[in-house]
Amino acid sequence: MEAKKVLIIEDEKPISDIVKFNLSKEGFETEAAYDGGVGLEMALKNDPDLVLLDVMLPTMDGFEICKRIREKSNVPIIILTAKEEEVDKVLGLELGADDYITKPFGLRELIARVKANIRRTGMSDIVGADPANVKEFESITIDTNRYEARKHGVPLELTLREFELLKYLAEREDKVYSREQLLEDVWGYEYYGDIRTVDVTVRRLREKLEDDSSDPKYVLTKRGVGYYFHRS
Ligand code: CA
Repeated sequence: MEAKKVLIIEDEKPISDIVKFNLSKEGFETEAAYDGGVGLEMALKNDPDLVLLDVMLPTMDGFEICKRIREKSNVPIIILTAKEEEVDKVLGLELGADDYITKPFGLRELIARVKANIRRTGMSDIVGADPANVKEFESITIDTNRYEARKHGVPLELTLREFELLKYLAEREDKVYSREQLLEDVWGYEYYGDIRTVDVTVRRLREKLEDDSSDPKYVLTKRGVGYYFHRS
């Protein structure tokens, strides 16, 4: 398999260098940008498989970059935030990031996150995937081989996390999952209990999936418990 390419947009060169070095050791191809504007351009032109995105950057901040990447691409984005910038995490997710990691981070944790976020994106390349892996629900179809969901036949522009959340719930119709359980199963690692991640992702998913996101028909809330998928 071709090496996956990670774009690192981070102006602190020592951090960028050590991340680059460690990802290379793990078999990733890496590129670095030390400036926001340059980083955005590379993200849009060079077709990376994942973007590691710092927030405080010269010329353009990470949130603006995140927003602009999302207008064009569903590439997984992990935002790097400083510990005190609690509010940034949620803002980053609102703007379409898939994940965030708090500085200072351990390299093993970072690599685990990169792998968790990149792991399944390549699976849509599988040739001759089993057509039995398409699930149909009224106007929605979910193709778990191609990592694609459609509504009335039109592909939905879902991020990896949005898709995985939809797939997870849809494969377990009418079963209610707590936010904590979803974090563990869909995000795939201990998430320090930040359940807002789930709420934000559900909201974004609903905006794309539902006719009226304030009155959802598929991804439903069980008040005080969590979320579930229902065949409308
Ligand atoms: Ca910075």
